Amino acid sequence: MNALKKILSWITRPIYGGIGTILMFHRVVPASLGKRRPENTALEITPEALEQVIRFFIERKYEFASLNRVHEILATGEHRRRFAAFTFDDGYADVLVYGYPVFKKYNVPFAVNLISGFPDRQVVLWWYLLEEILLTRPEIHFELEGVPYHFDLTSPQGADQAAQQVRRLVKFATPQELERRLQAIFSPHYDDLYQKTTELALSWEQVRRIVSDPLVTISAHTAHHYALSKLDETTAREEIMGGKARIEEELQREVRHFAYPYGSPNEAGRREFALAEKCGFQTAATTRFANVFRAHRKHLHALPRLEISRLGGLSGLELAVNGFSTLRRNRMRRVISE
Ligand SMILES: [Zn+2]
Repeated sequence: MNALKKILSWITRPIYGGIGTILMFHRVVPASLGKRRPENTALEITPEALEQVIRFFIERKYEFASLNRVHEILATGEHRRRFAAFTFDDGYADVLVYGYPVFKKYNVPFAVNLISGFPDRQVVLWWYLLEEILLTRPEIHFELEGVPYHFDLTSPQGADQAAQQVRRLVKFATPQELERRLQAIFSPHYDDLYQKTTELALSWEQVRRIVSDPLVTISAHTAHHYALSKLDETTAREEIMGGKARIEEELQREVRHFAYPYGSPNEAGRREFALAEKCGFQTAATTRFANVFRAHRKHLHALPRLEISRLGGLSGLELAVNGFSTLRRNRMRRVISE
């Protein structure tokens, strides 16, 4: 079956392979030992696997493109080879520690889509607090708006239910609700809710160090990583512009590119695409699952990306960059503009 898929993907490639691919990652970490939650390991790639991905594109003679170069290719239509652009969302410090040396070795550019609240230590990395609780505590209980929640964490089902419910409560909270909910759920377990942020997020000093290398682009990813579609337009604009302005202030350079938090149609649609354009970004990236096509020159604020951890290894990457799996997911459409 896989051999058949591979052959079919050679047929789809000329039409659905597009002119290039933007890849999405989060963290680079050595293989972890011990128990972990799948929601979080899905955000990770090892330095060895990252190297394999780079070699995959070298073997296929792709051009490695910075986001400025992606914009140039789309704006001018001039390029000889398909391109691959690497992007890392949020701003984890391990991208500098374990990812950067790999990119340096191959002279490959990459971008960090930075939440300014990461180095500003204003974002609670609740998904790591939650992981620790789920793996080490026998139970979790809290009360929200008069509703009691209780989960027995000694069984895998109980832990999964707790993970699902807490993620739902936190991810779709309004900024006002979020503070209350984080306090109610996590403060019984942690004195300092920002403990994981200090531990895992890039500091401004690290961001300055990394951006001194021309291989690295720092782009914006809002101030606090709220689902933008859930905010009123004024607040959404403040989130987008606030993140951009903080980075520009710290780095003394213009931020030209943007990535939507979460980036699926639930969190970023036409209103957000228009906002990103009005805020002056040259490009903005979603998590719509597709390659980039020439027609994206008219949709520079709705660029698709392939999330590497969801592809199932290099054979899955091959099916995606050849447009086989992406065309099935998108029901034959090439450009997803809403
Ligand atoms: Zn993000």
